[in-house]
Amino acid sequence: MRFEELGLNEAVAKRLSEAVNGGRLSHAIILEGGSAADRHAAAMTVANALVCSGRGAKPCGVCKDCVKCSADSHPDIFVARGDSEQKSYPIDLIRQIRNDAYIMPNEAERKVYVLMNANLMSEYAQNALLKILEEPPGYVRFILTCGSKSSLLSTVISRATVFLLGAEEVSGDDELAARGKEIANRLANAVMAAGEIEVMKVTSELEKDKALFSACLPELREILCGALAVKKGGLPYNEALIESKLAGQVSAERLIRMLNDIQEISDAVKRNANYNLQLTRLGTKLR
Ligand SMILES: [Zn+2]
Repeated sequence: MRFEELGLNEAVAKRLSEAVNGGRLSHAIILEGGSAADRHAAAMTVANALVCSGRGAKPCGVCKDCVKCSADSHPDIFVARGDSEQKSYPIDLIRQIRNDAYIMPNEAERKVYVLMNANLMSEYAQNALLKILEEPPGYVRFILTCGSKSSLLSTVISRATVFLLGAEEVSGDDELAARGKEIANRLANAVMAAGEIEVMKVTSELEKDKALFSACLPELREILCGALAVKKGGLPYNEALIESKLAGQVSAERLIRMLNDIQEISDAVKRNANYNLQLTRLGTKLR
């Protein structure tokens, strides 16, 4: 897709296109705001333009690189979404990017890393990324997208050029994910509160809200995995405070047991098993 076809604010589309085509795009950019679909389309168009080998305005849409881009199969464009089941960026992925960045591009003159939903990166992940953002090889470009850059470290933001696509449009999905995360945090705290009342208080809010229940389960798993990582001497994932607290208060055996229970409950919910029964089961397993 060409820049003018993106349906973005005209001034932003022009600024992006001129920066790419004029070879003035900094080695890292942040695409902020607008809808998730806008950010995705804009990021992929910039990535495409950066590897395009055609003449004239890029992306040309017809060169071999553009053809591969439209099939989402260009070997020099790496896309991470941070929106898989775990809704985060594992630190290993950032390390992998850091190592991979030193390997020359396969076909194009550039190698592009697109990190969608970069706001989901933990502070640790961002600090790990910073090492390569500060001094990337000349052929490397980074494109970060986020609804709002408020969760990005100022050190990361200062290494990049920010393009504001518009006011952030929050989709129902984002909202649900945020609520799921909040419930998961409260459940994790309830686990430490000892006694079933706290757990019951939170699970009662999930009654009649299967979508929220389903959204909270992977978040809760993530927190427990983070706590387990801390227990093993590693770094927490996203909720550093709760995960460290959990690691201090709950045994590894119990964490693993809860993780297995939550996995089973998630699977059951996906199979459409009696939902209220699964909710009760969660309450029993967490107290
Ligand atoms: Zn092209």
